[in-house]
Amino acid sequence: MSSQQLIVKQRPVLLEALYAGGSAEPLDCVLDLLLAWEVLVWEDYLSIRVSEKPLSSNARHLLDVVYEKGEDACGLLLSAFKQVLPEEQKAELCFGKECAVLEKKTAGSAASALLTDRPELVRKLRDNIDGALNVLVKNGCFTINDCDGVQLPVYTPSQQVRRLLDQVRFKGEKAARTLLQYLDQTEPTKQNPEVEKHQRLDRMRNFSASPEILLYQKKLRSSVASQSHFLSTYGGTGRFSLDDIYTDGLLEVMDASGETTTLELKDVVGPVGILNKDADTALVSGEAGSGKSTLLQRLHLLWAREALLTDIYLLFPFSCRKLNAEHRTLSLKDLLFLHCCWPDRSQDEVFQFILDHPHLVLFTFDGLDEFKQGFTDEERHCCPTQPVPIPTLLFNLLQGTLMKGVMKVVASRPQAVGPSLKRYLKKEVHLKGFSPGGIDCFVKKQYSDPAMAKRVIDSLQGNTALLSLCHIPVFCWIVTKCHQELLGAEGAIPQTITDVYLLVLQHFFQRKSSQPQGALRKDWLEEHLDTVLKLGQLALEGLEASCYVFSGYELQKSGLTEDDISVGFLIYCNDLSVTDCKRYEFLHITLQCFFAALYIILNQCNNRSAIPKLFQSQHRPQKCLGHCVKHTVDETESHTAEKPDLQITAQFVSGLLSKQHRNLLLHSCPAALRERKVKQVVKSISKAMQRHFKSIPRPVEGEKKSMHAMPSFVWLIKCIYEMQDNSIAQDTMAKLDVEHLKLTYCNIGPVECTALAYVLKHLRNPVGLQLDNNCVGDVGVEQLLPCLNNCHSLYLRNNNITDDGIRKLVEKGVCCENFQKLALFNNKLTDACTQYFALLMKSKQNFLSLRLGNNNITSKGAEQLAEGLSFNRSLQYLGLWGNHIGDRGAEALANALKNSTTLIWFSLVDNGVGSAGANALAELVSQSKTMEELWLNKNSISRDGVECLIKALKTNSKVKEIWLRGNNLTPEEEEELSKQESRLTF
Ligand code: ADP
Repeated sequence: MSSQQLIVKQRPVLLEALYAGGSAEPLDCVLDLLLAWEVLVWEDYLSIRVSEKPLSSNARHLLDVVYEKGEDACGLLLSAFKQVLPEEQKAELCFGKECAVLEKKTAGSAASALLTDRPELVRKLRDNIDGALNVLVKNGCFTINDCDGVQLPVYTPSQQVRRLLDQVRFKGEKAARTLLQYLDQTEPTKQNPEVEKHQRLDRMRNFSASPEILLYQKKLRSSVASQSHFLSTYGGTGRFSLDDIYTDGLLEVMDASGETTTLELKDVVGPVGILNKDADTALVSGEAGSGKSTLLQRLHLLWAREALLTDIYLLFPFSCRKLNAEHRTLSLKDLLFLHCCWPDRSQDEVFQFILDHPHLVLFTFDGLDEFKQGFTDEERHCCPTQPVPIPTLLFNLLQGTLMKGVMKVVASRPQAVGPSLKRYLKKEVHLKGFSPGGIDCFVKKQYSDPAMAKRVIDSLQGNTALLSLCHIPVFCWIVTKCHQELLGAEGAIPQTITDVYLLVLQHFFQRKSSQPQGALRKDWLEEHLDTVLKLGQLALEGLEASCYVFSGYELQKSGLTEDDISVGFLIYCNDLSVTDCKRYEFLHITLQCFFAALYIILNQCNNRSAIPKLFQSQHRPQKCLGHCVKHTVDETESHTAEKPDLQITAQFVSGLLSKQHRNLLLHSCPAALRERKVKQVVKSISKAMQRHFKSIPRPVEGEKKSMHAMPSFVWLIKCIYEMQDNSIAQDTMAKLDVEHLKLTYCNIGPVECTALAYVLKHLRNPVGLQLDNNCVGDVGVEQLLPCLNNCHSLYLRNNNITDDGIRKLVEKGVCCENFQKLALFNNKLTDACTQYFALLMKSKQNFLSLRLGNNNITSKGAEQLAEGLSFNRSLQYLGLWGNHIGDRGAEALANALKNSTTLIWFSLVDNGVGSAGANALAELVSQSKTMEELWLNKNSISRDGVECLIKALKTNSKVKEIWLRGNNLTPEEEEELSKQESRLTF
């Protein structure tokens, strides 16, 4: 296809690439190249890049202008796209044959060199704008007004550079010569980009930082190192340094099209997964206990040791929970120096350095979800020296109104990140806890005795509900910490998070007890009731007021003594700020929620409405739980978003009321009171579920009745699971009347799968369960098995599932009469799983649809699958899009499906199928009595292959369409062949 045709055909995708995300950078980069290659002349450029017009109109005009210039210009335009676009975007495009870029002519004048060397000049000038402007002013080429026009803060550094270049060109030859001479002096020799990069870094490090700055950097590094060396959950005893215990978690980013990529720690700040180039805040999002704080701590430690983020000169770590306690108005300068590191000398110089070098500075903010006030961008503030309230300061930093260019990393639970904040995110990194391998690795790091590690791992393997909990690092930590209680457990092994937290409660009291090991009295909870209630009250009041850090005075007020504190649930705050009073926090936010729940259950003088309000608070603006915390109206109203802390608390409340724990609570909570609370929880859950079910829209005619779960649906399911009462699950599900249950992008991991299966196994009629784009994994698949027969369809696209998960799924699936459809697009499947699908095909003669797109299946896997398919009499849809089955695989599958009397739809798009494969598929076409659509786009079929398909179509009237876009055919061939057979689509 000619380049001109490619431009026309791909116009929507090309336009999207030029202005998607609202950033002008792709368009500007393409323009730079086209100017340099003389595809565009200066007048073209001025007519295209009109800043008063929307970006989309600039982009359209560019395509039109270049198209008019003919085939060569279009070829060069495609080459420019190829250079500028990221790999993921390039994959969607066809660039045609390589187009030679003309040998660069030596520019006749300095002004013309500004065009021919433009891409390089933009790169060089980005770090030198100030210097260049100074020289231009000094030489009388620029006025101060010109400089201001270039450096307007609304422009990104690259845009400022381009404005500078345009202005210099406008000023004429002298200005151009001055600029080029300046750049020559700052760039002594031309080097390869790698060396250049290193030199730039070196220059950055030695950019004549004054001794004062170096001193400050040293002090900051050393205090960050000492704060991040130990894990706080271990009480800072020094036994567990972060180095000994840190285990990589699963990190993923999603691009604009929904594709996910796995990341390493260093990539959190790197270029992978950027959604908005103009923003400078990266979000690390994950559920409570998924390891966000620990990840930031690791980043801090590695930076302090100069082992990572080496191009960051100063890193300032903040904790939002600690910022809550700051009631003064502060300027940015105060914030940095008072809350992170005080410069012993030359404060002004240090601060000026920070202002002058934003790209060398990184701020991290841990626990945005714990910040009292929800994010808003209503109040603008950009002055670094003017004192303002902390929320104003924080929100303006995140938006980039204040200190544009400073990279920020923010950690938060997903619930706290609403659309208003999302607009300012450069990228969103999802932390999904430990992988199965990560759990093993973490457990091994915990014990010096490998035999003990093995015992713990074996016991986890034997209890998959507990194993699924261990994907969340904080649960994994508790489980390993309580291994003695776990391995020696006489009663039931822990299944729920409440079980696990009761274990840790028991463990801590055991440690404190004077009794010999293992001899904690049966009524241990009653024995420690006083401490539990005091901690519980502190915890609950704290949650209600978004307070996670407590002063000694507050502890005293709650009646907590040194003895209570020494049990170990409260720890000293790690704090970089300048303060002389000791402050405390719970070991982890989940533990604070657990104590709050204990208080709600065990405090006999509790307000009767505490439980209903706890559940209702998820649906209304937050109100005090009828408890004794005094809020201001503002504080109360700022919490209109979902409250994840109260959700966790409600989960624990449900768990504590489960029958298993009846005996434990017997002495501390009278039976009648307990029963009343059970009833309240059941009623609250049922009411909340009803609200969901009522929101299900009537089905559109011809469509299935389907429910798209709202965020708190999963939470309610988890509360039901914590109660471990089948009748509650059964009653709830009896009221759910849908055919399709959609839970996409809901952060469903193995833990949620356990709860879902527990509840969904009581569905009266099978549903289609859509769990696409979650983090189910193999352990999650295993957890779902109990409800597999209640699913006629299971959609698990993009869920990190491997062959092992498929083995388990199929083992169960073959016995589930109702299970008929499976979608596994974009997982980690290889040829090792196709034997299981073959078994499924042979064993289940009512199976309808199998979609395995975008995995790693080759011809070998296809042959194995084909073997099973030849026995199948029911399959209607088979999708293998984006695998690597090649001609051999296509032949095997075509052969196996030839006699199928059910197949309707078959896709082998993008599978490296050539004409030999097409030949075999033609045989399938000629024999099939049922097939309606065959998808063969993006393969390498040439004319003879298509001719075979045409011949086969002559004898088949059932087939409606064969898709052949993106094969080895010229446009002329496509035109001619489609005239021969209208059912071919090119
Ligand atoms: P979050 O900030 O997401 O609530 P944390 O980082 O506080 O979670 O993790 C809770 C606990 O889990 C930590 O104190 C630590 O014991 C354990 N943990 C979390 N992430 C890791 C990790 N990557 N390696 C080892 N332990 C971890």
